[in-house]
Order: sequence, then structure tokens, then C-alpha cells
Amino acid sequence: MAKNGRRQRPRKSVGTLLSDQEFKRALGYANAAIELLKRSGIAPYPQFYELFYTYATGVNPSLNQRINALLRDGTATLDIAETLYNEFLRSHDASARISSVSERMSARIGAVHAAINSVMSTAEGYSGSLRTASSDLGGDVSAELLRDLVARLLEETMRMQQANGELEDKLTASQEDMAELQRDLDEVRRESMLDPLTKIFNRKYFDEGLIGAIEDAREFETPLCLLLVDIDHFKRFNDTWGHQTGDQVLRLVAMTLKSNVKGRDIVARYGGEEFAAILPRTDLAGAVTVAENIRKAVQAKELLKRSTNETLGRITASLGVALLLPEDNAASLIERADRCLYAAKNAGRNRVIGEDQIKSGDIVAA
Ligand code: GH3
Ligand code: MG
Ligand code: MG
Repeated sequence: MAKNGRRQRPRKSVGTLLSDQEFKRALGYANAAIELLKRSGIAPYPQFYELFYTYATGVNPSLNQRINALLRDGTATLDIAETLYNEFLRSHDASARISSVSERMSARIGAVHAAINSVMSTAEGYSGSLRTASSDLGGDVSAELLRDLVARLLEETMRMQQANGELEDKLTASQEDMAELQRDLDEVRRESMLDPLTKIFNRKYFDEGLIGAIEDAREFETPLCLLLVDIDHFKRFNDTWGHQTGDQVLRLVAMTLKSNVKGRDIVARYGGEEFAAILPRTDLAGAVTVAENIRKAVQAKELLKRSTNETLGRITASLGVALLLPEDNAASLIERADRCLYAAKNAGRNRVIGEDQIKSGDIVAA
């Protein structure tokens, strides 16, 4: 039994099982990347190699547009390559970004602290001057002494005002900075829930979301269904059309799933080419209908490679649907949905199996 009580299916490493065709294609991209690095005089550091490799594959049309313009004008520089890399390829590692935000935050707090200290010592000096002035005024006061006193106090007051002004500026700057840091943190938090490739929720969010949905279903006594989706023969698709094209198909399937469920449902990338949908307040019949809609929508898409206008045919998916039972926990619900998914594969793929079909003996899980 694997994590979450899920049966382990044999997983093959994509890297070790490249077909001849895909190997040649990847080598072609690699050679093109090296050639472009030479031509543009950009140092062949790994990140720039990745940049031009990605360019050679053509998967990112907006990146290609930008590089095309640079190559055409002969204006590619290391700085520009760095900028492009950061914009298109740098991994937005959440923990690195959180620690950078926290570093900036503590630097800011340090600066404000120093400004407050400096104002406080100026204020102490100011109060000392006021005290001296007041005791000076107690004795005989000549016009000359008074003029002197006023001049001193004026000078001290200006110093105090200046120190207060500086503190105010620092506080305003810090307020703006904090607001920016807050936005950064919000973005990091949002990104940490998403799968970078498909931009739908990731596995971590799914795991938490499922626990929350089960609690809600129990509290409000509403039905809850779980859908697992696995693309059929996706290895074959990758082998034929390349991994990058496969990635685009994963994005397309993710969008298809999202557009076939309601706003309160949670659609996530469960693993490589597997997706999951949590459907609160949905009974088994309703969930099977949603699954059937997804299956049809996936199959309906005729895939076209825009860069070459090649038709890639269609893909299909198999789906398993389980309904939360009183004795279930997240792991057992996932396991039953997975069993249905298996049954759908065994029954010939491109189909939906709801768990009532397994129980009634229609389909026997392998
Ligand atoms: P089945 O119909 O039984 O599900 O067959 P399958 O080929 O889809 O299943 P298998 O588990 O043998 O292979 C899954 C493949 O999914 C392997 C890999 O090529 C592909 N895959 C997994 N993750 C990714 C990814 O992130 N990008 C791309 N392009 N392909 C992926
Ligand atoms: Mg799979
Ligand atoms: Mg598959």
C-alpha cells in the first residue's frame, strides 16, 4: 500500500525510457540550443542553455517571440538572457521566496528601530535643553541672555523637527514596503497551492482540501464524491509527440476538468498524468454525470500542434468515482476511487466507472 493507502502502480521513469524518436528530437533541440548560444555570444551557462533549449522546442510562443526579436536585431546580451530566464524559467521556489521576504522584513524593522532610537536620543537632548532654559529663566534675565536662549531653543527645535521628519519618512517608506511584502507573501502562498505546469491545485492542496471536504460533508450531512482521472496511453503519446507536447496536453486536460466542474469543487493534479476532483454536495449519480462530461470533453478535443499545424489526434481518459461512506477517511475514499479507475482501465479505457458498478458486480476490479 502506498502513501494515502493508494495502490502503487508501476511507474516508469520518463528519462530512462525515451524512444529513439524522442531521443533524436531532444538531441536536435540540444544542438540547436548550443548553436544559438554560440551565435549570440552568450555564455553557455546551464540557465542560458535551458533558455535556448526551450526556445528550440517552441513550447513557449511568447518566449520565442522575444528571443526572435533579439536574434533579429543582434541585441542578445547576458543581461537580457538573465532577464528572460528569470521571467520565463526561473523556478519560483516558495521557500526561497519566503526567506527573502523575511530577510527584507527584518532589515526594514532594523531601520525603523534605528530611526526611533535616534529620535529618542534627540528628544532627550531637547528635553535637557528645555530644562536648562527654564532654570536660566528663573534668575535675572538680561535681553542678551534671552536672545541667546531663544536662538538655542530654535536650533534645538529645528533639530527635533528634522529628526521627527526623518522618522516619519522612514515610517512611510516602511509602511509601503510592508504592503509590498504582504503582496509578495500572498502571491507565494497562492503559488504554493498550485501545480506549476497546469496552474490547477497541486497534490498538497488536494490532500488538505479532501480532509476539509470530508469534515464539511460530515458536519452538514451532505454527500461527497471523489473523481480520479488518468489519461489513457499517455506514455505512448509522449513517445510519439515528445514530452513538451505532452505537457501542453496536460494543461489542456487540466483546463477541461476545471471548466466541467462548479466553483466549489476542487480540481487538482494528483500525479504525473493523473488528476482528481473533489465534488462536495454531490451524490454518486451526479458525480458520474460530471465524470462522463469530462470524459466526453477530453475525447472531443482534436489536438493540433500550432507551431507546425500537425494534427496529433485525440486523447482519452479513464475515470473512477467513489462516494464518501460513514466509515471512510481520506485514504480509503481515494483507494476506492482508484479501484474504480483501475476497473475503467481494465474495461477498455475511455470510460467512467462509478463504485456502484463495481459493487453490483458489473465490472470486476483487477
Ligand atoms: P494507461 O492508459 O494505463 O494509464 O497508460 P499510460 O501510458 O498513461 O500510463 P503509464 O503509467 O504507463 O505512463 C504514464 C505516462 O505519463 C508516463 C509519462 O510519459 C507520462 N507523464 C507523467 N508525468 C508527465 C509530465 O509531467 N509530463 C508529460 N509530458 N508526461 C508525463
Ligand atoms: Mg497514470
Ligand atoms: Mg495513464
